Amino acid sequence: MRVTKDDVRMDLHSFYEWILQENLGYVLQRELLAKHTTWRVGGPADIFYQPDNWKKCLQVIGGANKQGIPVTFLGGGSNVLIADEGLRGVVISTKRLQKLAWEKDQVIVGAGMALPQLSYQFFQKDIRGLEFAAGIPGTVGGAVIMNAGAHNSCMEELVLQVKTITDEGQSKDYTKNELNFGYRTSALKNKKELVVEIGLKLQLGNNEEIKKLRKKYLEQRRIKQPINLPNAGSVFRNPPNDAAGRLIEAVGAKGWRIGDAKVSEKHANFIVNLGKAKATDILSLIQEVRVAVAQQFSLSLEPEVVLLGFDNNGR
Ligand SMILES: Cc1cc2nc3c(=O)[nH]c(=O)nc-3n(C[C@H](O)[C@H](O)[C@H](O)COP(=O)(O)OP(=O)(O)OC[C@H]3O[C@@H](n4cnc5c(N)ncnc54)[C@H](O)[C@@H]3O)c2cc1C
Repeated sequence: MRVTKDDVRMDLHSFYEWILQENLGYVLQRELLAKHTTWRVGGPADIFYQPDNWKKCLQVIGGANKQGIPVTFLGGGSNVLIADEGLRGVVISTKRLQKLAWEKDQVIVGAGMALPQLSYQFFQKDIRGLEFAAGIPGTVGGAVIMNAGAHNSCMEELVLQVKTITDEGQSKDYTKNELNFGYRTSALKNKKELVVEIGLKLQLGNNEEIKKLRKKYLEQRRIKQPINLPNAGSVFRNPPNDAAGRLIEAVGAKGWRIGDAKVSEKHANFIVNLGKAKATDILSLIQEVRVAVAQQFSLSLEPEVVLLGFDNNGR
């Protein structure tokens, strides 16, 4: 018998089967999320859904909402710590939303496009503004949510508008002004809406200058960051007028280790996975560092990484 989402309460397996039957895109059960995060940690998702067309997402998000099934969004997994127990319900990965439509003054980008790849495309077309993102390993959607930035630039400077899907399965358009960008945040950060497409401003630049900046920024990262080991970039937000890395170094936390999670010797605001780190190891290390900084500086470091699947936000 054909399953329809309007049937009485579906269990998770029936919901998975419904996605398959309706041909709504690539879907797996019990997919290990460690495969989809740059820290290489995170337990399984009950259902892992990776659509190649945002319109198909409307039905899945709306359907999950009607069925009371929790939904979590995942981009490049480069700014998340996912619990070892994994995530219940549906995890929607944007990686296959790869649209790239060049218009006269803007480019419309699918949320799953990798930021370094888009930065390279800009360079190839002599378009300036995304040099800063050459070494930020997330997706464009994740970068908009987090207002990713570096080298005194950030996504806010380029975003013109954003298309999302609400938790009721409706599409919604935002102009830049509605997005309230701030330091590593935006109005979308705590909303249950999936970013599916982004319009970015095109500004012609000088190819040689773009090339020079990209090279310089990538070189700086190679020197300063432990990019040879799994990590999630900066673990803590910088407090006003200070650097989290400086405070962590000052309490002597460089090199602290729990299991295979270690505070990087190269950059104190990075925690690296030496191989078999568990999410609990990383979380315990985050907590130890917070306590040490709080004791010495009476200052509470706030995580920049997003904790998913932990009770009480990991506290
Ligand atoms: C080596 C390294 C260097 C880094 N350097 C920088 C840096 O210089 N500057 C900087 O800002 N960041 C940096 N980061 C962190 C990270 O790359 C950025 O925050 C990035 O923008 C996160 O994008 P993502 O696609 O990986 O998001 P994810 O980690 O997958 O998700 C982050 C959050 O956004 C949500 N999300 C993701 N995609 C969507 C979507 N389409 N719709 C709705 N919600 C979504 C998730 O649910 C989660 O809450 C670095 C990370 C690494 C590993």
